[in-house]
Amino acid sequence: MEESIAENELRVLMIASSRHDADITAKIFKDEGLPYFFCADVPQLCEEVERGCGVAVLSPEVLAHGNGPRLLKLLAEQPAWSDLPIVFVARGNHERLPLLYEYGNVTILQPPLRFITLLSAIRSSMISRRKQYELRDLLVREANSQLLMRQADRRKDELIATIAHELRNPLAPLKNALQLMEMAGDDAQGNANLRSIMARQVEQMIRIVEDLLDVSRIANGRIRVVRSPIDLQDSLRSAIESVRPFIEQSNQTLHLELCDEPIFVNADRARLAQVAANLLNNAAKYTPAGGNIWLTVAQADGKVTLEVRDDGIGIRAEQIGSIFEMFKQHDADSERGKAGLGIGLALVKSLVELHDGSIRVASPGKDLGSTFTVELPTCEPQRSTHSPGTESSGVNAVRSFKVLVVDDTPANRLMLQRLLGAMGHDVAVASDGAEGLELARKLVPEVIFSDIEMPKMGGYQLAKTLRQDKQFENTTLIALTGYSQDKDRQQSLDSGFDDYMTKPIDVRDLRQQFARLSGSTL
Ligand code: ADP
Repeated sequence: MEESIAENELRVLMIASSRHDADITAKIFKDEGLPYFFCADVPQLCEEVERGCGVAVLSPEVLAHGNGPRLLKLLAEQPAWSDLPIVFVARGNHERLPLLYEYGNVTILQPPLRFITLLSAIRSSMISRRKQYELRDLLVREANSQLLMRQADRRKDELIATIAHELRNPLAPLKNALQLMEMAGDDAQGNANLRSIMARQVEQMIRIVEDLLDVSRIANGRIRVVRSPIDLQDSLRSAIESVRPFIEQSNQTLHLELCDEPIFVNADRARLAQVAANLLNNAAKYTPAGGNIWLTVAQADGKVTLEVRDDGIGIRAEQIGSIFEMFKQHDADSERGKAGLGIGLALVKSLVELHDGSIRVASPGKDLGSTFTVELPTCEPQRSTHSPGTESSGVNAVRSFKVLVVDDTPANRLMLQRLLGAMGHDVAVASDGAEGLELARKLVPEVIFSDIEMPKMGGYQLAKTLRQDKQFENTTLIALTGYSQDKDRQQSLDSGFDDYMTKPIDVRDLRQQFARLSGSTL
């Protein structure tokens, strides 16, 4: 057990009857290595017991002059774990002796008294006292862990409420947009506007869910970055595009100071874009309408500095220190009511550190804007024979495929069927693994998208069965997973899937899948 008994808690407290007695006793205790303390009287003894006491060694005479009740009160008011040992050294036939047992953990020694007897009484009292202190520590630890559990429980409740609130924010405009579309009928322009609102809200919901999944990946140490030499500004451009609608909607001005030359960093392109998008998004969120946001990139001494600055609501000095902690949000005043889940900056910091970089924040104070600065090491460009000019040459080369979609959720099935149909593929659908297998045997599709958890036969079983059948050796199997944990991905690959896609499926990812299958690039 962890030792947390302080030295003074094992002191022998005494009230010496004479100077001579005190000197002799002190010498013996010193020789025995026993910590001791002489008190002048019972009131001082009571005070010292509060500071810590292994055993009190007293003579019955100290109980005279009304001190008995005082000592009794001290013992009666001990905490539940404590039973203070008292050794009474009674010289002669003391009339109060029978009463002493009322004091609790009492040992009475009578003359002729040898020091060895006194020492053994003190040592055994000390052993019992040590056990009492251990019990105290156990109780304190127990109380602390209960407190922590209650706090964690409260934070969990708050978090669930915040998540629900955050998801409801984009849901409300989505619902209204759908109702408006019903009312608008064939108004093409009106519907196009509503669709773009809906697309933004859906993107926001996806971002919330992705952030939450990333939080769990960070907590499990399973966040992964796939790094290669990339042009930082490429990933910045995609971040800018994703937040531009939000910035425009708030009538804010985005000032870009990028470099003309590419800046190579050894990084995961999507993860860096996530970092930049998060910072830009925050800048827009915490800057009033009509404000300014600056994105600056500068390269020097083997590193690149990326700065996102705004002239928004700023950050108070006392919040700066903890701003990168998970679930830290400002909630002090109403203009900060836009605060979300409080996970974005924690994710940003983890991602930057996974790229061997650092992030810092500065703000002169409330309403004086904020500056987030990311520093990353630069690297040499990768030598490649692949010229960027060929990147989009395959856009039109994607051909039509015979596709089967297996999913037990009707809405998912229908949406994927319509998306794939709209992309020009020939699509059949099945609502569970068994039906999927039957249809696959009949149609021999070139590509099968399959959900994982389904009644009758799940996706893993379906993949395993198809992989044993020679006629599907050229069929590409793609798992549709709701979870984007590495172990789920690994399990789908182990079951025979060629690839996996995380739901909700993005049409850009679908296009890329088919571009790859057609042997072209998008
Ligand atoms: P969220 O924005 O979801 O609350 P973040 O982790 O992204 O969570 O940010 C944590 C907190 O830091 C926010 O609640 C906000 O109060 C503050 N913050 C972040 N960026 C800015 C900024 N550019 N200006 C002012 N405050 C900011």
